[in-house]
Amino acid sequence: MRGIVWLRRDLRLHDQPALTAACEECDEVIPLFVFDEPLLHSDEFGSAWVNFMLGCLQELASSLADRGIILQWRRGDQVEQVTQAAREWKADVVYWNRDYEPGTIERDRLVQQQLARLGVAVRTFKDHVVFEAAEIRGATGEPLQRYSAYRTRWWTKWHATKSAVQSVPASLTKTKAAPLPVIRPLPTAKELGYDLVDLAFEPGERQAQKRLRWFIDGPIHSYAHGRNLPAIDGSSQLSLHFRFGTLSPRTAIHAALRSLAKGGRVSRSDVMTWVDELIWRDFFQQVLTAFPHVATGPFKAVSVPPARPPGSERDRLFRAWCEGKTGYPLVDAGMRQLNQTGWMHNRVRMVVASFLIKDLRIDWQSGEQYFIRHLIDADVAANNGNWQWCASTGTDAMPGYRIFNPALQSKRFDADGIYIRRYVPELARVPANRIHEPHLMSPDEQSRSGCHIGVDYAAPVVDHRQARQEYLDLGKQQVMR
Ligand SMILES: Cc1cc2nc3c(=O)[nH]c(=O)nc-3n(C[C@H](O)[C@H](O)[C@H](O)COP(=O)(O)OP(=O)(O)OC[C@H]3O[C@@H](n4cnc5c(N)ncnc54)[C@H](O)[C@@H]3O)c2cc1C
Repeated sequence: MRGIVWLRRDLRLHDQPALTAACEECDEVIPLFVFDEPLLHSDEFGSAWVNFMLGCLQELASSLADRGIILQWRRGDQVEQVTQAAREWKADVVYWNRDYEPGTIERDRLVQQQLARLGVAVRTFKDHVVFEAAEIRGATGEPLQRYSAYRTRWWTKWHATKSAVQSVPASLTKTKAAPLPVIRPLPTAKELGYDLVDLAFEPGERQAQKRLRWFIDGPIHSYAHGRNLPAIDGSSQLSLHFRFGTLSPRTAIHAALRSLAKGGRVSRSDVMTWVDELIWRDFFQQVLTAFPHVATGPFKAVSVPPARPPGSERDRLFRAWCEGKTGYPLVDAGMRQLNQTGWMHNRVRMVVASFLIKDLRIDWQSGEQYFIRHLIDADVAANNGNWQWCASTGTDAMPGYRIFNPALQSKRFDADGIYIRRYVPELARVPANRIHEPHLMSPDEQSRSGCHIGVDYAAPVVDHRQARQEYLDLGKQQVMR
């Protein structure tokens, strides 16, 4: 029997359900990746995203080649390409790991339909999440809307299921290789229409495993505190690997829980706090699956202050936010980290999102889209869930008044301004007692630190106290209506 493994966001060999099943069931296994032409031509992805994906694919191709298997690739419409490949290569089955975004569900349905016409079987697997939406339900079978209830049931299911991690299939050797013509090397970023960029993060499965080991041996045991400090390596930065599937969430959770048994410098509460974040990941995925309307609008119809109307003022403020030129150092450092590296620290993501929505009163969807285009870990479910959390339109019970004070956040979490100075070099010589609100420097202080406000560094685009009050007042008017 000949099987195609259609690779998507699962670019690894370890704990790879579709690949494992194909190796068990087929005499010949053909791994296939399709560069989706329409998607590549949309402006949905940035160069960092494409370069990272290519790095993951290159490593995967070489790991497969070491085993005598060739990674096949095609370019074009995914539905057409997968169907054509199955026809040309006379495949009996196509295997893939399930994806849950509304667009990809529809794409997969179409592929399945086309393959059925050809008489080719399809086998799909759970992979991207620990538990799919249908596996965690409330008492009457309803999808859960509150994280706390979801988390309780998630753990019950975890203990009942004993989900295991699969190793690389031993049979994945050249004996499984199909006699197909040798394929040309993978395309470069340039050939796909993107710039070649120096990545700030190493792609690929090997790096994902190395990073996981490093994290589990150290930073996880001070995670609850360390994750809030953007200047240090206090979180795992594994989100990029979960995005492209160079690491499975099961592998990560098992490694974290195993570390508790090791003894030595082990902190149960820190480890559990980290696992909680992976449960949040599953939670937002189930929200998107069970309530697909969140992809295009608020989860719940709450009355929140209206966004600023379209126009030049809105565009000016949005541009300042995108470019990291708002005059609020933590916001600017975060946006520049995103623009330069394709990743942003979680606490800073919350601060910049709150600032966009509540201080600048710009619709959260504009921020959501900007993140999708610039984050390497861009994930529709996690991104949407978090933006809705920040906009107070999401699943949690908090009313519309969660407003972060950017200067207080930076005093608390980047007291010496180390993170700020890294990404906002204009402020490099500004003393620590002024770095959070540099516009308060006297003319003399500005000269001494070589940073003239309004010249070298932006004056605040809005006054936070005033903007906050306006937001609250608008909120009251909404409620009274
Ligand atoms: C406005 C906003 C937008 C976001 N957009 C994305 C996105 O597009 N993709 C994405 O993966 N995460 C997103 N997040 C969540 C979070 O910021 C990142 O997952 C985290 O910063 C990744 O860094 P890490 O791997 O070091 O996380 P760690 O702190 O090491 O956490 C481990 C893993 O748990 C998951 N996780 C952590 N926090 C969250 C969370 N709040 N929600 C869901 N999953 C979480 C991630 O998979 C992460 O890799 C967003 C957060 C905010 C506030």
